[in-house]
Amino acid sequence: MTSPFLLYHKIDLPTADVKVRGAFTPPKAFARQMETLVRLGFAFATASEMAAHFLEHGEFPKRTVALTFDDGWKDNLTNALPILQRFGAKATIFLVTSCLGKTTDLVTAEGEGPREHLSVEDVKKMSSEGVEFGSHTHTHHHLDKLELADIRTELTTSKELIEDVTQKPCNTFAYPAGFFNDAAKEAVKEAGFKIALTTMYSPLSGLDRFALNRTEILRRDRFMFRFRRKLASLS
Ligand SMILES: [Zn+2]
Repeated sequence: MTSPFLLYHKIDLPTADVKVRGAFTPPKAFARQMETLVRLGFAFATASEMAAHFLEHGEFPKRTVALTFDDGWKDNLTNALPILQRFGAKATIFLVTSCLGKTTDLVTAEGEGPREHLSVEDVKKMSSEGVEFGSHTHTHHHLDKLELADIRTELTTSKELIEDVTQKPCNTFAYPAGFFNDAAKEAVKEAGFKIALTTMYSPLSGLDRFALNRTEILRRDRFMFRFRRKLASLS
């Protein structure tokens, strides 16, 4: 079964220096994907709305998707937000809080130059317009490689910073590059998150709320038959 959490990264055209182009969804393709979702009768939920429904009913709402964006790129504001608003689509953005307001290559793919992240002001504006912000750690370290104390610091630092900026609870978490282990999962629970998302390709295994898969939408899904095929098993 397909996960109802769709994973995006950058809504932009790749620049010439970019070798790994998969994480770039062209804005026009993104608009067509949103139009397709609406036309197929999908509703949109934030990650925390999905979590709340899951906690109450033991399953996700029918014919509903959660659009999620990892890393907190500036293009999520400049390119994605106008399209989201045009289609009335809710979204959840997972921030690497140490990158707020910076142009850096901390989380860009190998060989790719620095890229601009959302600023604190951007997050405030988007939050006031209904975009949800979750944690993607403070420094994007892969949690399966860290000591427990460092995992806890990554989680609490980012959670507190986001809550401070948005003045809303930060309940949702996405593992950097999808990597986790049992200790990381426990720490995520302890830190007070309600749901944690990976980027694993395996099926929606056993619906573990702290290791939920996502359906990654890649550049090649700009071809609508590919995008629709990815949605096919969502009921
Ligand atoms: Zn990431």
